[in-house]
Amino acid sequence: MRTHHCNELRPDNNGQTITLIGWVNSARDHGGVIFIDLRDREGLTQCVFRPDESAESAKLSHSLRAEDVVQVTGSVEARPEIDGKSTINPDLPTGEIEVAATDLVIINKAEVLPFQLEKELSNEDLRLRHRFLDLRRPRLTRNLRIRHLVTKAARDYLDARGYIEVETPILSKSTPEGARDFLVPSRMHHGSFYALPQAPQQYKQLLMVAGVERYFQIARCFRDEDLRADRQPEFTQVDIESSFTDPDQIIELVEGCLAAMFEAGRGLNISTPFERMTWHDAMDRFGSDKPERRFGMEIADLSELFAESGFKVFSGAVANGGVVKAINAKGFSGITTGQVDKLTEIAVNHGARGLAYIQVRGEDPGTWRSPITKFFSKEELAGLKDELEVEEGDLVLFAADKWQAACEILGRIRLECASMQGLLEGKENEFDFLWVTEFPLLAYDEEEGRWAAVHHPFTRPVDEDRTRLESGEYEGLRAQAYDVVLNGHELGGGSIRIHEADMQATMFKALGISEEKARAEFGHILDAFQFGAPPHGGLALGLDRIVMLIAGEQSIREVIAFPKNNKGADLMTSSPAPAAPNQLRDLQIKSAAREQKDQ
Ligand code: ASP
Repeated sequence: MRTHHCNELRPDNNGQTITLIGWVNSARDHGGVIFIDLRDREGLTQCVFRPDESAESAKLSHSLRAEDVVQVTGSVEARPEIDGKSTINPDLPTGEIEVAATDLVIINKAEVLPFQLEKELSNEDLRLRHRFLDLRRPRLTRNLRIRHLVTKAARDYLDARGYIEVETPILSKSTPEGARDFLVPSRMHHGSFYALPQAPQQYKQLLMVAGVERYFQIARCFRDEDLRADRQPEFTQVDIESSFTDPDQIIELVEGCLAAMFEAGRGLNISTPFERMTWHDAMDRFGSDKPERRFGMEIADLSELFAESGFKVFSGAVANGGVVKAINAKGFSGITTGQVDKLTEIAVNHGARGLAYIQVRGEDPGTWRSPITKFFSKEELAGLKDELEVEEGDLVLFAADKWQAACEILGRIRLECASMQGLLEGKENEFDFLWVTEFPLLAYDEEEGRWAAVHHPFTRPVDEDRTRLESGEYEGLRAQAYDVVLNGHELGGGSIRIHEADMQATMFKALGISEEKARAEFGHILDAFQFGAPPHGGLALGLDRIVMLIAGEQSIREVIAFPKNNKGADLMTSSPAPAAPNQLRDLQIKSAAREQKDQ
């Protein structure tokens, strides 16, 4: 039997007898005549049960409730005029027709739903517990489809460029991407654990050594991190690696891939090549390695101006090798005390001692409201006005600290001011793609008292900085690493890799990894690099985030079929869950939590 989809029928079909199968989206009784909107994944069709046309079906239709699964047969008719008024629904693709039902089969009844599908629901836990219902909403159905189209576009694009998809293990070994591993205990090797891959990084590099030359994978990755709005413990990357390549080739490849993905998912024609900016510039001007550039408010450096200032917080910072930086939030002098408190809290949370600011109430600095301007000389006030193009109505905010800290503080403040001022409203359809290049290779981890890889330990330094890596001068080394950014979101990142065993060993040494530990954990890489490893590099795109942005959603949970909540739990299947005693016995694992419970 050929059935139609619920968005297919048009006036051309009038007079045809057709069959539809789907869910009762809604049922309405209009004086004995029952109208139902029948829904399937494609859309809605109105079906009418008239007692005078088909008494039996019309009678049965009285029992229909929302979400019953039914099969309706009838003839397609133009929607009539009633009392001289058209009943056409212009908002519905099938709004010009209705199906005059002659047969009704109730295939499966539905209980009353825990929530209505038409209404937006703020209780996300309730949605996630009944995700199989939540996914029936048109918005989520649409998101799943966008995800499919975007993923397929990436696959097709990479395939056309000679990349082959290779699956790599899920039960794998710890790889240092900077997060905590999920571990899986081994039943056959008691006391040993697999790690779920944080990324297929080492496998893809080993595939290059294996001669694959061009690899990709739609790869599931696992990171046991505290969750934020756009993080999940498991997520998907479009993972790419290629041999005999350079950053320009990877950048060109990825731009093409993103263009194909945005075209497939949103019909957007994005223009390439994207602009490029060094990490230093991005931090210096926007206070972030993923700059949001759809509004101005760039960070200015006022260190020279305030180097000798009577305001000791500023001159002291400069004397200590730090900087004085500021932003001008145009037109925001009317900031409320509550908003100032919020900005101050953000600054303090990022290591500042407070937040200095000026509310510019008039042209004359005498009218400015600020706790600090009384310490500024005339020249400093004039210089400030000049450098930040200060006008009446502005709000100037400062940070005085080490360069990176000052940039990061103002980077956060800048974003918050923009959100308070609504500067991004109406810019939903502006897409600002950008490459951030020349990331630092290493960063000093104060807590651990050692250097850590900014990207990961397999990233190659820029050629000019190699000798400094070898001689142990780690400060300021630059990596051949690049991130692709869209509207303040990191879409992906990658690098050219180290492919020589000795340089890799030097890198492990820089990271404070002993030779023994390097052998034990990364012996396979060090070995592989001894047997003719080709130069190689790659990148991984965060598929969930890309689909989120294409779909215009605020959270990646909206574009994942079965996401975890913000505590890492799958509320639908109640996972994670305690393991049965016999499972734990097989694994020779004792659960401390269980023992405590049993006591
Ligand atoms: N494995 C890296 C990551 O997950 C990406 C890459 O370097 O290709 O961030």
